[in-house]
Amino acid sequence: MLRRRENIQLKTPDQLRSMRKAGLVVAAGLAAVAEAARPGVSTAELDLIARRVLAEAGAVSSFLGYSGPPPFPAVLCSSRNARVVHGIPSPDDVLADGDLLSLDFGAIVDGWHGDAAVTVAVGEVGFEARALSQACRDALWDGIAAARVGGRLTDISNAIQTSVRSSGGYGIVAGYGGHGIGTAMHMDPHVPNYGRAGKGPRLVGGMTLAIEPMITLGSAETRELADNWTVETIDGSLAAHWEHTVALLPDGLWVLTAEDGGRAELTARGAPVSALAD
Ligand code: MG
Repeated sequence: MLRRRENIQLKTPDQLRSMRKAGLVVAAGLAAVAEAARPGVSTAELDLIARRVLAEAGAVSSFLGYSGPPPFPAVLCSSRNARVVHGIPSPDDVLADGDLLSLDFGAIVDGWHGDAAVTVAVGEVGFEARALSQACRDALWDGIAAARVGGRLTDISNAIQTSVRSSGGYGIVAGYGGHGIGTAMHMDPHVPNYGRAGKGPRLVGGMTLAIEPMITLGSAETRELADNWTVETIDGSLAAHWEHTVALLPDGLWVLTAEDGGRAELTARGAPVSALAD
């Protein structure tokens, strides 16, 4: 079988320090929009808050004007309930008590990208929805903790799948996954959220990956809406989505979009944190 050779961008420690600046803007933006996500607030208002965070940091959006047609019209993706990813903020999209909301945000500082997502509960959310989001967050961190220099890409994929399976009978969204990131938001390699371990490119120091499991309470199948962006579950089941941008180094990991560099969750899983994160 002929395979396309992956073109994976490697970063120096100084370049990773620059990416960290973008990562911290993303962390601050997600904290601000998550805090503001209350019943009665529109997703357009959340997008405005995210725009303010970018402006105050002197950062540029990774998402605004992205790809298309049509180009993505916002700096934030807001995907409620059965919407999985790439939801477009709108004044008509008003949050209601009990919504499960995925918020995905990207920032560019000095040409370097950061990308992360959280799923938040709006008001009082049911047990099943909370468990779904928790399972997705656990899968993200289990996937991150499985990344190590000398390993292979799908060690991460398999750790995500194993984590999701250990949490319950959730659908792991097919057709979407994580990605390399650096001087562009979406770069090689594609990071699947399931599969056998020990496959794909060798993991080497200086790689940066956006790892992003997406899981559902039902089917793994999705469809794209007529806006050419919003992805929703085909069976209308609830979805959750969590994401971080992670740097791999010979001495450990540095989660660039986590305020603590990933220390708490990595340490809890026995995974080493790079000295660069100090
Ligand atoms: Mg991403």
